[in-house]
Amino acid sequence: MDFDSKEFARRFHYDGGDLGARLTEKGTEFRLWAPTAQKVQLRLFQSGHEGEAFETLEPERGEKGVWLARCDRRLDGVYYDYLVTAEGRTRPTADPYARACGLNGQRSMVVDLSATDPEGWQQDKAPARQPEDIIYEVHVREFSWAESGGFPEGWRGKYKAFCCGDTTLFGQGGQPTGLAYLRQLGVTHVQLMPVYDYGSVDEAHPEDSFNWGYDPVNYNVPEGSYSTDPARGEVRIRELKELVQSLHRQGFRVIMDVVYNHTYKQDSWLERTVPGYYYRTWKDGSWSNGSACGNDVASERSMCAQYILDSVLYWAEEYHMDGFRFDLMGLVDTRLMQRIREELDARFGRGEKLVFGEPWAAGPTAHKRGVRLADKKSLAGMDPEIGAFCDGVRDAVKGPVMYRDKPGFVNGGRGFEQRILRSVTGWCGQGRGFAAAAPSQTITYLSSHDDMTLWDKLVVTLDPEQNFDQPSPLVMRASRLAAAIYMTCQGRLFLLSGEEFGRTKQGVDNTYNAPIQANRLDWQRAWDNRELVEYYRGLIALRKQLPALCDKSPKARQRLLRGEVPACRCVTALLENGGAWSKILLAYNASSRPVELQLEAGRWELLADENSSFWWQEHPAVERARVQPMAAMILGQRKQE
Ligand code: CA
Repeated sequence: MDFDSKEFARRFHYDGGDLGARLTEKGTEFRLWAPTAQKVQLRLFQSGHEGEAFETLEPERGEKGVWLARCDRRLDGVYYDYLVTAEGRTRPTADPYARACGLNGQRSMVVDLSATDPEGWQQDKAPARQPEDIIYEVHVREFSWAESGGFPEGWRGKYKAFCCGDTTLFGQGGQPTGLAYLRQLGVTHVQLMPVYDYGSVDEAHPEDSFNWGYDPVNYNVPEGSYSTDPARGEVRIRELKELVQSLHRQGFRVIMDVVYNHTYKQDSWLERTVPGYYYRTWKDGSWSNGSACGNDVASERSMCAQYILDSVLYWAEEYHMDGFRFDLMGLVDTRLMQRIREELDARFGRGEKLVFGEPWAAGPTAHKRGVRLADKKSLAGMDPEIGAFCDGVRDAVKGPVMYRDKPGFVNGGRGFEQRILRSVTGWCGQGRGFAAAAPSQTITYLSSHDDMTLWDKLVVTLDPEQNFDQPSPLVMRASRLAAAIYMTCQGRLFLLSGEEFGRTKQGVDNTYNAPIQANRLDWQRAWDNRELVEYYRGLIALRKQLPALCDKSPKARQRLLRGEVPACRCVTALLENGGAWSKILLAYNASSRPVELQLEAGRWELLADENSSFWWQEHPAVERARVQPMAAMILGQRKQE
């Protein structure tokens, strides 16, 4: 059967919105979309991971390839799977539409979702948007694993740790850690690395391994290893909701990292249910592998698109997620991304839920003809509220991620001046590489979970001793300069947790399955490097007051009045601001000599330099501006009274 044909979609596209297991007044209904199956059986279990089925039902084939079984009992808490016979083979499979599951996601579970709501969930509301979005990427286990975080013993590494609002270093009552620390820092959005159910960590023994979790098994169920009881299907659901509720109460919005471009294995629930439908293959039948993870999901096929859309909406509605970060968005088609944007807007208000992703893939993919992928080339043509990680600013500031030793602007590189200027306006407008239509599309960042941390890249390129733990003065200076540059670029701000305290992974660039010791957030280091943290804090607070930088409209780049290169490896940008300061002047000097700036008439105030990012609180007037070597300076022209 040609899955790409219009005929297939016409005959089998199902939009009933009721796939999966549903509780009704008196009973339970199970619907599975399996148009190519010859036979389907439904098995019921008492346990999510052991024992034989206590009952087997025979679903009937109905319209559009949907198999339906009805039961006159309410089966909440009962586990189930299917035996699907297709292409002459019978295989067990969990329900791709499952919203709850047992240990390690091998069986699905019927769940009464309303019974999983924490107290006050109906009233749960995201905090109001701030002038700027500051997105902080954390991994659930990394966040609270270290003893230095001062989290309750049994909650370390769990969803529950996010319910602690007032943790301190080693629990000693002094320096804040965890969410209390993030509140001080000025973060607005906490981005969770995968919290859907993934396969690489054994939920029965989560301490035995670590993984980032980019290996989805059950798309619509939370990961079990972060829950206090992964064998009871309802617990992980309640605990993830509690996490969201707690973050909301403490002033953060929550972004979910979603990985619809590939599944953990080719042999997934999707594949066992409708063999061949959900994945791209080349003409010779081999599997497309643009994800470098063994398979590429065929987002362009109508029921696959529907599946992904439904999943996103489900997380937004049921779990109150405030945004979605699409892994390898460059493998997903633009039509689906646009649809996701539209449906989220229709339900929650324009732009209320953030949508952005990685505008690239790991390799070529076998999409059908006429499909456009949501990559860098497509970005400017998509909805301005679909954003993408800007590798332009990332690589210009600190050097390319692909070449370990190659520097960028702040660490000795030459010829980056124009790219730094493009970064100021969020890489908007025509140009090579990344090109956004508006800064709302630009995710400005220097580090994420991928690749070396910012600190490590700077140590590798600047410190002959390669000492990741004792900061060389040069690395410290470059850290501040790098932060000052990207924190004053238009676009939405994103940082890897711990970047602001010089997080190190000892130069290792891919720690996806490294031990937790290599990945954990070291809250002691946040204290040791508190001066750097303060520097970030000041920049974040300043930024929220600068309309020139917070402006996300397509016209934002017209605020750039003048961009200049007054000396080699030095860049200045004068921007129309319109807040307390009518203009701001940004100066980034990566050279080894001080640079004198000419200031136009008016009262200029120092807002930040290499020593402090809090000068703006004191309004010191500046007559002559001298930008020190390896330093940034931010000036504001006081509005004429
Ligand atoms: Ca799992």
